[in-house]
Amino acid sequence: MPATKKAPAAKKASTTADKLAKLGLRTDMDLVLHLPMRYEDETQIVPIREAGFMAGSPSQVEGIVTECDIQYRPRRQLVVTMADDSGPLVMRFLNFYGSQTKQLAIGTRVRARGEVRHGFFGTEMVHPTYKVVEEGAPLPQSLTPVYPSGEGLSQTYLRKAITNAMTRIDWRDTLSPALLAQLKLAAFEPSVKLLHNPPPDVDEHALMERTHPAWIRMKFDELLAQQLSLKRAQAARRAKGAAALPTVGALSQAFLEALPFKLTKAQQRVLDEIRGDLRETFPMQRLLQGDVGSGKTVVAALAAAQAIDSGYQAALMAPTEILAEQHFRKIAQWMEPLGVRVAWLTGSLKKKEKAEAQALIESGTAQLVIGTHALIQEGVEFSRLGLVIVDEQHRFGVGQRLALRNKGLEAEGTSAQTVPHQLMMSATPIPRTLAMTYYADLEVSVIDELPPGRTPIVTRVVDQNRRDEVIDRVHAAALEGRQVYWVCPLIEESEALQLQTATDTHAMLSEALPDLRVGLVHGRMKPAEKQIVMDAFTRGEVHLLVATTVIEVGVDVPNASLMVIEHAERFGLSQLHQLRGRVGRGSAASVCLLLYQSPLGPTAKQRLMTMRETTDGFEIARRDLEIRGPGEFLGARQSGEALLRFADLQTDQWLVEIAREVAQQLLTHDPATVEAHLARWLGGREEYLKV
Ligand code: ADP
Ligand code: MG
Repeated sequence: MPATKKAPAAKKASTTADKLAKLGLRTDMDLVLHLPMRYEDETQIVPIREAGFMAGSPSQVEGIVTECDIQYRPRRQLVVTMADDSGPLVMRFLNFYGSQTKQLAIGTRVRARGEVRHGFFGTEMVHPTYKVVEEGAPLPQSLTPVYPSGEGLSQTYLRKAITNAMTRIDWRDTLSPALLAQLKLAAFEPSVKLLHNPPPDVDEHALMERTHPAWIRMKFDELLAQQLSLKRAQAARRAKGAAALPTVGALSQAFLEALPFKLTKAQQRVLDEIRGDLRETFPMQRLLQGDVGSGKTVVAALAAAQAIDSGYQAALMAPTEILAEQHFRKIAQWMEPLGVRVAWLTGSLKKKEKAEAQALIESGTAQLVIGTHALIQEGVEFSRLGLVIVDEQHRFGVGQRLALRNKGLEAEGTSAQTVPHQLMMSATPIPRTLAMTYYADLEVSVIDELPPGRTPIVTRVVDQNRRDEVIDRVHAAALEGRQVYWVCPLIEESEALQLQTATDTHAMLSEALPDLRVGLVHGRMKPAEKQIVMDAFTRGEVHLLVATTVIEVGVDVPNASLMVIEHAERFGLSQLHQLRGRVGRGSAASVCLLLYQSPLGPTAKQRLMTMRETTDGFEIARRDLEIRGPGEFLGARQSGEALLRFADLQTDQWLVEIAREVAQQLLTHDPATVEAHLARWLGGREEYLKV
């Protein structure tokens, strides 16, 4: 019965394939490009007496087993003593097989590698890697690669799979000899081979630090693939049609005139950039960056006005209900007097209300629609959608961003050939290197100036045990007519606990400050309840607003000028910056008090220092990137493949710039190379790079 005999083998093969697939290793080329994460030096044997001089780095020794016992004190373990001419060494195995006592019988010659320490049994190695050898067995001539691996995939297996794959792939260089010469880059084949099997005379330091020419070639190739893929996505977008929205007409005019302030120069400049894009017949993909409080909303509203003036609908999406509702109120208040019909749509609307909103949107009666991501989720049909605006785009999940950028809202309410223009807004500035890589297919506009009359926020870092003084300060501020936010500690592990803390804090502050009106907002309240509290705070009827991070983004109450953040050490840097941005929006001098619980860990300390030193969102983003690294910064940990494997955006920025130029050249002059290079480096993974 050959069929049943075959089945288990097939199953086994597929599980190994699954394990490889988990590492993104599907093809021979994937395996060949699975490069070592580090190297181990097994080329030397040191005398036991000299092993362990370099604390923390492993040594390799060789000796003859003199004792081999299972011991029971201080716990059950296999204890093997071996010795060379210079002295004895104990190997301890806490997990072991019975067969190891035979394998390591007295008189056996063993080569062991591990960290040496001085423990209970004298000079010892705990769980060394070892093998039984013949006298004079040859040592490896070169460094041993260590590959990124997953559970159930041994180094030996990976090494063999990679070696086999290397015999099968097409080694042709994707880059021409002329280009390699011009860029002074090493060729592909020798670079890859060197990294998998470094020769004995290799510059070890350069290999480990990834500055070796072979590494540089890999990094360059990787960055080039990324740039090519992004530029192609951009071209694909440009090839799609969009409705031109050319009219800056009566509504735009009336709206500008009705505004109680003049646009800043920066707002005017970015508005001109957006206006230019909207006149085009291919879809805009523009990211509007501006620090917290720089006045992005009004620019967005003016973009929407242009769409409406041109006879189209616009949609504005915000990541939280509080923010969406705030936008709705503010913009409706601006635009409804000018005859614009604004619809409101979130997931929490009642069925009937939702149906009403949808009818307005479908018939085209509603010219502007404001809401949460319900706008894309609930199968909303637009009649003539011309522009989608996404506020605080970085707060949407990676998946939602991908959906938005790849699909836009093309399925809903627009003909298959045209997609709406897109404006994304963010207060989390993207440092230049990231902008050039992950966001290379976006146009970027920056509002680099705050509206006039703002006084800078003073930030103080205060020990939590001085809370009473802080409460006095809150009291004094409230008596002066200023409004205060009190942000409760973030408790990521438990929403219930978070809620409890917010309620407790509210009770504590109400009791401590009986003559003030203290409000509470948190994520579990119904939108309507939240709104009642937020309204009362906006009108100045609540002095002190106790809040969870629901107020983090976008909330705009200019009279609030004191912000207290408890357990500030638990928040991330951009979150602190966003929270702090809730104050400093009016003309009153604002203060932000960051309460912390000592002792502070080193990164928390760094974050708080940064907050104290600067209010510049770009500087904060730059330091955040430094502290966290680009992967976490992008919040893209889930899509690990999106991240660069070899290149490091901080140390290899110079390469990014070269890769960018070369990508441009190749796309115009050498499409065959583009194809070959993308096929080699990305295979089917291009999607992930576009988030
Ligand atoms: P953000 O960029 O953080 O979204 P907002 O759009 O909420 O900032 O604007 C912050 C505050 O500044 C709002 O109260 C807004 O009305 C006000 N504002 C915006 N532009 C100007 C301006 N040119 N002059 C004065 N105030 C402005
Ligand atoms: Mg905003």
